[in-house]
Amino acid sequence: MEVDGHTPVIFDMGTGLRPYGEQIVGFPTSGPEGRTAPFGAFHGTALLTHLHWDHIQGLPFFAPLGNADATLDVFGPRQEEGPLADVFAGVMRPPYFPICPDELTGKVSFHDAGNDDFAINGTKVRSRWVRHTSPTLGFRVEVEGVSIAYLSDHGPGCSDDPPNFVPQDVLELCDGADLVIHDSQHTNEEYEDKWFYGHCTADYAVHVAREAGASRLMLFHHCPTHCDDDVDLMLIHAQELGSAGGVDVMAATEGLSVELHHALAR
Ligand SMILES: [Zn+2]
Ligand SMILES: [Zn+2]
Repeated sequence: MEVDGHTPVIFDMGTGLRPYGEQIVGFPTSGPEGRTAPFGAFHGTALLTHLHWDHIQGLPFFAPLGNADATLDVFGPRQEEGPLADVFAGVMRPPYFPICPDELTGKVSFHDAGNDDFAINGTKVRSRWVRHTSPTLGFRVEVEGVSIAYLSDHGPGCSDDPPNFVPQDVLELCDGADLVIHDSQHTNEEYEDKWFYGHCTADYAVHVAREAGASRLMLFHHCPTHCDDDVDLMLIHAQELGSAGGVDVMAATEGLSVELHHALAR
């Protein structure tokens, strides 16, 4: 999330962090065209939902951290096993990876979060536990009158809640949001066999957005076995559901950017 006058806020640190890093640096830093020319010091924040591989793999490949003055503050889920920094370093170290987080050139600082409300450089952040297979947070950020909720992995099947129940914490994250980025991994048919995977259906994502009075929903966390046509079919279905409740539905694609404006400035 990039807003004039504020440092960037990054949602999770998956493989998308690599192209985003090169976009910030302004040139490729690897591959045949790769260069290592100097670039300015990056300062930003990452809101980390949980420690599953698909949410952490991009960190070592985030080019801006190649500058010694760069800083990245990572706010992520408090772990039973110890401080988040130590638990993260447990998976980013030999033999799983050649280097540890503190061997990156720039400085990465980890901050333990739970059900918290805090401020980052003029941005209001709310973190709440959401239902998944490991301790997982959802986030809401508010800046310059625009609000975004991010619930990447959200599995109602990880609880005893009735199928369509929306927890109060989830409603607080998504309440009237300008954009809700939400898990939508499964079709209804797939969910019947995979309800315990820790993910949800596109129907449930629309339901959350409607219940919370959000205006726009981004279907996210597509199933790895789905091709673009599968996602298109899910999107058409979700748009029909969403239009009945005043929710504009989109599907996330690689490299997609969305511009949001404060209601008064529209
Ligand atoms: Zn996960
Ligand atoms: Zn995930």
